[in-house]
Amino acid sequence: IAKDDHIGVAVASTVTDLDDGRRRLATLEELRAGLDRGELILHYQPQLNLTADAVTGVEALVRWNHPERGLVYPDVFLPLAERAGLMGRLTSQVLEMAIEQCRAWRADGLKLAVAVNLSASNLQDTALPGYVADVLSRHGVPSAALHLEVTEEILMRDAARATDVLAELRAMGVRLAVDDYGTGYSSLAYLHALPVDDLKLDRAFVAHCDTDPRSAAIVKSTVELAHNLGMRMIAEGVENGAALELLRQWDCDLVQGYHLSRPQPPDRLAAWLRQRQPPTQPDHGARKPA
Ligand code: C2E
Ligand code: MG
Ligand code: MG
Ligand code: MG
Repeated sequence: IAKDDHIGVAVASTVTDLDDGRRRLATLEELRAGLDRGELILHYQPQLNLTADAVTGVEALVRWNHPERGLVYPDVFLPLAERAGLMGRLTSQVLEMAIEQCRAWRADGLKLAVAVNLSASNLQDTALPGYVADVLSRHGVPSAALHLEVTEEILMRDAARATDVLAELRAMGVRLAVDDYGTGYSSLAYLHALPVDDLKLDRAFVAHCDTDPRSAAIVKSTVELAHNLGMRMIAEGVENGAALELLRQWDCDLVQGYHLSRPQPPDRLAAWLRQRQPPTQPDHGARKPA
């Protein structure tokens, strides 16, 4: 499906304002119904740990499995969900699915961490840490197996409250990453104060690091910055082997991108992984939900 075939907001510029308004309303109703009917699904993209030379985690990426329109991508419906105040429900569903999948993989001997993206409103919700703790304990998944990704803009929204929510999550043992690092407005002062574990450099800098010297300089400096702050550096958007080799040389900790694998449905990812690395002992500690 071409991105232009996606609903509502994606084609807004080609229709009149009136049509645009109607489309948006229709889409919002559909999104509400879609959430009720459980039409959101997750695809997972592997993260290769360069130190361990193994896939140690995956990022959960939400898609809307629309009955007529097919797979709808998050850039189309997340802004709508955010505006309509549906982000709390959406994130609850995503966390539930991701952690249940993590439990199933662990029970199968695939000890993967799962990374979930948070949105701006999630970090204003002081009930989030309690909810996360509940989902983890219901599925018997250790908190260290959950990574949460937040963008710089999100952190700027209401920095004090966001920092409290993040600190509480981190105190539980959940790992935190700054996503799309380098594209927002956050200053080094934020990095200094924030309770985060990983820097995830935006793919805009990673994609051309093998051909563009300025991108290369940014990537290398960010690895150093992350390490000097006691954080790990994750590179997203690794699209070819040359970039991967350079990232290895530059001491980057984890990589993610189309060169390794596109995001995939969970069963396909498990098959891909088994081919790449044989499973370890099953995790008998992981429980089925009550
Ligand atoms: P993100 O968190 O930065 O996720 C990475 C995006 O880059 C994904 O797009 C992924 O498919 C894409 N990508 C991965 N490797 C490559 C590569 O090598 N080259 C290129 N060109 N792209 C690559 P996707 O799945 O369309 O997600 C877009 C954004 O939507 C995500 O960016 C994230 O901000 C947001 N998102 C996705 N799922 C969720 C969710 O469950 N909750 C929230 N709040 N946001 C989500
Ligand atoms: Mg992300
Ligand atoms: Mg990103
Ligand atoms: Mg992004």
